[in-house]
Amino acid sequence: MAKSPYSLKVGRVYIHKKCKQGTQVNGEHFEGLCNPFILCLGTVCASCGGPRALKTFYWEDTKEPLDAYRRRLRTKVPPIYTWWWLWISPLIGLIAGSVIGPLLLKKSTLPVVAGSAAVGTLIMFLIVGPKILMLIAPKKYYKLR
Ligand SMILES: [Zn+2]
Repeated sequence: MAKSPYSLKVGRVYIHKKCKQGTQVNGEHFEGLCNPFILCLGTVCASCGGPRALKTFYWEDTKEPLDAYRRRLRTKVPPIYTWWWLWISPLIGLIAGSVIGPLLLKKSTLPVVAGSAAVGTLIMFLIVGPKILMLIAPKKYYKLR
């Protein structure tokens, strides 16, 4: 994959298929949008609002749809990244949640255990898992064309 001159400051432009208008994305939004291990289902169009599904936008320079771009990026790093993001980290959250929740609430009924397990899974999948991945394997995904 070719390196590109993309920077967080300048960012990159994506086009909304429906209205054909461009949106400049930069800074943290750009970084998050390009990181395929952070859940991102949609983004906004500067001209008609949103959020709308990622597949309804494409990069202006490469014409690649944003959802396909993110999927492709996941294939450019070792598969362990995806295993961690989708399975290992959520599983740790599931186990930790089912143990910690009942301890904190001093109750270990099934709804408490199941609820805590679900919360633990979500926290790991959405927030902690991606952060740990970036700490262990920092990568400037937005640099990848
Ligand atoms: Zn639009």
